[in-house]
Amino acid sequence: MATLTLRSLTKRFGDTAALTPTDLEVADGEFVVLVGPSGCGKTTLLRMVAGLETPSDGDILIGDKRVNDLEPRARDIAMVFQNYALYPHMSVRKNLAYGLKLRGMATEEITRRVEWAADLLGLGEYLDRKPRALSGGQRQRVAMGRAIVREPQLFLFDEPLSNLDAKLRASVRVEIKRLHQRLGTTTLYVTHDQVEAMTLAQRVVVMNRGRVEQVGHPSAVYACPATTFVAGFLGSPPMNLFEARLNATGDSVEIAGVEAPLPLPTSMEGGQRVTLGIRPEAFVPDANGPLPFSLDLQEPLGAETLLHGNIGKQPCTLRLAGETLYAKDQVGRLTVTPDALHLFDAENGARLTQD
Ligand code: ATP
Repeated sequence: MATLTLRSLTKRFGDTAALTPTDLEVADGEFVVLVGPSGCGKTTLLRMVAGLETPSDGDILIGDKRVNDLEPRARDIAMVFQNYALYPHMSVRKNLAYGLKLRGMATEEITRRVEWAADLLGLGEYLDRKPRALSGGQRQRVAMGRAIVREPQLFLFDEPLSNLDAKLRASVRVEIKRLHQRLGTTTLYVTHDQVEAMTLAQRVVVMNRGRVEQVGHPSAVYACPATTFVAGFLGSPPMNLFEARLNATGDSVEIAGVEAPLPLPTSMEGGQRVTLGIRPEAFVPDANGPLPFSLDLQEPLGAETLLHGNIGKQPCTLRLAGETLYAKDQVGRLTVTPDALHLFDAENGARLTQD
């Protein structure tokens, strides 16, 4: 195992800045997830670590060794791709063994590792099958097996669950987490799916337009997003973001167009326009609450219900526990606790409240 260090890592494709100078330290044994929308630069970053893309600038260190100039196979990493990249004409056993054979490993050691990986991933009964006779989830497990038999210093995952249906995605996700708990190998994992990021990461790196927006423990980032971009990206449904303004004394905030003052835990500079963030689960129906809510549509999900509607002219989603279908007047007024209010700069989206 090893640390991974990126120093001012940069990638330009002609005039496109795919990755602006980026610093990142992944600790020995840590599981870090890069998450962001399509085109934010996460795959480019991963491919540079793998040695499949040449940096325009900056350094990549695995342990204390600079690896920029090393060939991919000399970097002691193993990568798992979205499309599995298995050899279709080889059995699962041969797929698992092939990379080790190419490296000239002794047959007995290859057999030991293949059996160990098959056992760990529950592939024992499929060892003599070809990939075409496996389900998508089983194929992805073979791809992971091929990575772990290498016993590399670093695992790189590039959207490994994207080709699986929702149910399989959830179960393979759990397997990846369990695997990391057992092996403790340093891991960098790329996804555009915020649920994967929240559930797998020890630290999440939220990226936007070639830049890192925020790095932190998933629940800390969820509780305290640094920008409106992060607030709107992590969480499903995302945080509601309202145009709002502070009162003259800066101790309460009003959603623009609605006279509904919400008290703030700390005073801010009065009078300014802000973006007010409220998570869907932070609303409480309250006949005496300050916020008027007009309900449009409900989505009962079993354990909870999503309610879509408006506060003034601004769209708003609530998430309430239970499967109840609500009458309009039951949720006609809402309250929010002061510590559930997130304030952001209306111009640049940066967080104003520090909590
Ligand atoms: P996705 O989830 O869609 O793969 P991503 O976040 O992984 O997105 P990248 O693939 O890293 O994004 O791309 C980052 C930016 O760099 C994009 O604007 C993309 O168009 C551009 N880019 C990537 N590869 C190349 C290339 N070979 N030539 C030119 N531009 C590229």
